[in-house]
Amino acid sequence: IATEHVQSEKLKICVCIRKRPIFKKEEASGDIDCVSVANPHTRVHEPKVKVDGLTKYIDNHDFRFDNSFKETESSDTLYKTMLLPLIPSLFTNGVVTCFAYGQTGSGKTFTMKGVQEEAIKDLFTKGPEKFKDSNPEFYVSYFEIYRGRVHDLLNDKEKVEIMEDHNNEVQVQGLREVLVKNESELQECIDSANSIRTTHSTKANDESSRSHAVCQIIIRNSTTSAQLGKLKLVDLAGSERAQDTQSNNRQRRLEGADINKSLLALKECIRAFDTKKNSSSDVHVPFRASKLTMILKDSFNSKNEFAKIVMIACINPGSSSADHTLNTLRYSGRLK
Ligand code: ADP
Ligand code: MG
Repeated sequence: IATEHVQSEKLKICVCIRKRPIFKKEEASGDIDCVSVANPHTRVHEPKVKVDGLTKYIDNHDFRFDNSFKETESSDTLYKTMLLPLIPSLFTNGVVTCFAYGQTGSGKTFTMKGVQEEAIKDLFTKGPEKFKDSNPEFYVSYFEIYRGRVHDLLNDKEKVEIMEDHNNEVQVQGLREVLVKNESELQECIDSANSIRTTHSTKANDESSRSHAVCQIIIRNSTTSAQLGKLKLVDLAGSERAQDTQSNNRQRRLEGADINKSLLALKECIRAFDTKKNSSSDVHVPFRASKLTMILKDSFNSKNEFAKIVMIACINPGSSSADHTLNTLRYSGRLK
């Protein structure tokens, strides 16, 4: 464990930056690494410009987060800092939601895959023995939200409906929930869902950059069926897509508007969840503003002291992405 990082269990909302390495082929096409990370700080260096033969330096932009992970740090380090401390709470009423945010190509899926693999191992090695009095059993569901529609990735992308029942609980009708007995069964389910996502995405011009994917692991008491905890790992749509609202292509414009709406709603819901900011007990959480936030309603229940939100903002350090990087850092900086 990297001790210089803040461990997530101390915080209700933990926001971190993860910078990925710059690739050789990016450098070959003239990109330079314009992001430097010294935990907890992240700095974006504006590129130098030549004006009348003189080199001008434009301002640097500095940000501070709970943690900033540099390009040499592994997914394992990030997982151990941000999620491992929260795993025991998943057996004692915890609802842990982890988001990967960032532009397409910044490392969201890479990061989420790393987190999934580690979490799957720890769920089975750290939980069942220690909490055997509550007879835990594990259910997985995995779905994608694309243009306000929810598709089941464990059931051939079947469309499912979400609705609020008379107790104001959000229900997903027809969503497959698979009972898994061990680590390898859980990994198999997740792999098959991930592969459906990527197969379809190459066919349809990277649909995955325009959809949110939610992997949900629910732990229940096998005797009483009561929920013990829930882990949600959310790979968000590419944040740059929120700007497609100006596109000439009608389809892109509608997608862009929908992504924009859901990412703004997400920000508002996380802000409302921040109990430090909201001392009054009845805070309005605008979760109905998008399908994404609606389906994650129980993630924003600030009355549950075991509910935690982890945000991982992924950064592509190339200078040609500096504008998107600044947007990502500003969005993340406004969450708390
Ligand atoms: P996104 O899901 O945000 O579009 P990806 O996760 O697909 O981005 O990452 C884009 C590319 O960068 C992939 O080839 C991925 O393997 C690579 N990559 C991302 N993050 C890292 C990292 N931290 N270290 C090494 N390679 C990475
Ligand atoms: Mg991706």
